[in-house]
Amino acid sequence: MTRTVPHIQVPADVERVVARLVAAGHEAFVVGGCVRDALRGVDPHDWDVATSATPDEIQQVFRHSLYLNRFGTVVVRQGDHEIEVTTYRIEADYADHRHPTAVTFTDSLHEDLSRRDFTMNAMAWRPGIGGQLGELVDPFGGQRDLEARVVRAVGEPRERFAEDALRMLRAVRFATRLGFMIDPRTADAIRDSAALARNLSGERIQQEMTKMLEAPKPSEAFRLLSDLGLLAVICPELEEAKGTPQDKAVAQNVFEHSLATLDATPADDLVLRLAGLFHDIGKPATFADGHFHQHEFVGEAKARDILRRWRFDKETVTRVTHLVRNHMFWYQSEWTPSAVRRFIRKVGLENIPALFALRKADNIGSGARSPRMYALEALWERVQEEIRAASAFSLKDLAIDGNDVMTELGIPPGPRVGRILDELFERVTDDPKLNTRERLLELMRDIGGG
Ligand code: ATP
Ligand code: MG
Repeated sequence: MTRTVPHIQVPADVERVVARLVAAGHEAFVVGGCVRDALRGVDPHDWDVATSATPDEIQQVFRHSLYLNRFGTVVVRQGDHEIEVTTYRIEADYADHRHPTAVTFTDSLHEDLSRRDFTMNAMAWRPGIGGQLGELVDPFGGQRDLEARVVRAVGEPRERFAEDALRMLRAVRFATRLGFMIDPRTADAIRDSAALARNLSGERIQQEMTKMLEAPKPSEAFRLLSDLGLLAVICPELEEAKGTPQDKAVAQNVFEHSLATLDATPADDLVLRLAGLFHDIGKPATFADGHFHQHEFVGEAKARDILRRWRFDKETVTRVTHLVRNHMFWYQSEWTPSAVRRFIRKVGLENIPALFALRKADNIGSGARSPRMYALEALWERVQEEIRAASAFSLKDLAIDGNDVMTELGIPPGPRVGRILDELFERVTDDPKLNTRERLLELMRDIGGG
């Protein structure tokens, strides 16, 4: 098979960095993900340079560079670009299947490429300098695999996954994001090595999960993770959902329903994607009575466990678990205005748009037809009405505050102030017209005096 002679258009800033290293007598290449992306015709989001120069030598060439000590990477600012310049290296001794305990520099580009994970990530490009043609260095058939749309480990797959178990998740991530197949030998090695993923740190799992969830169709990642035996190791809660039947038009078990819901959430909203994936994660445990009774509360706790295990930040955990806990609401047209306000109060006004987006995805993931969507739209309209009417949805929306309570009733700070505010809030929820300073002061005297 003949292959087109590759050419990569490297930004002038990056070319300049390479040229300065070469002029100082070193080798320098553009490497890794940016070569892969450029060959696919996609604009790389960052450009990495590998060089035979040691970190000290790199810093001699670029006086104002920033040295990232631990990994010996030097960040060079050139024009609009921040370019990571890294000395050729071999990573040795993966004692814990996590990260190398030692980094050894080498002056061989080939050695540096051979420690990389997949053939498509193990290519280097020498930019043409001074009118010369550029050159692709591709010792492992990365270009061929890119064209064939295959994710293939460099070297012996089993050894590579034993060195670093994260590569198994990266294989799934690349396959999903690029729409590639995992080469059968590489896939077999993942199946055999899946148990090693239990040693991975939560932070590293989180990073890969986040990238998988950004894919246009993230369900593919979770199906692959499950088929390869990785899901049972990193997220047994979700694997278990495969065995929980679910009578939905588009899904016969909770796992399939969760994935269909996930795909129906917007790709640019990580919180909604996680909520879609985990909204029914409480179902396997509550299946006993066949009704998934209170699965939203069990699900909230399980989602929290998983997200904390993966070291997601506090805000993400809070927002996702809040959505999971509140995802079971059943609107009926008989709801009174005060019922609508109570619903808003319970969910929190700021969470309403996300909760509705989740429900919409949940409906799509159930194959539900119009009536349910109409009900959702009807409730949305009624919520908007309440917002327009400027009702109070939280204590801070009241026309008075705790200071007013203390002054008016002449009482000291303490729990009693809170109780009176709560009571006023209750009354206002039932009747928003009460939310004026005058009416509330009057009411307060009634309540407080008693
Ligand atoms: P992305 O588009 O997410 O940045 P990437 O391939 O550039 O993808 P990085 O994590 O930025 O991924 O890593 C840059 C390069 O370093 C990779 O292309 C690959 O050559 C190498 N690499 C990264 N992680 C590993 C790993 N765990 N094992 C082996 N090589 C790796
Ligand atoms: Mg990268």
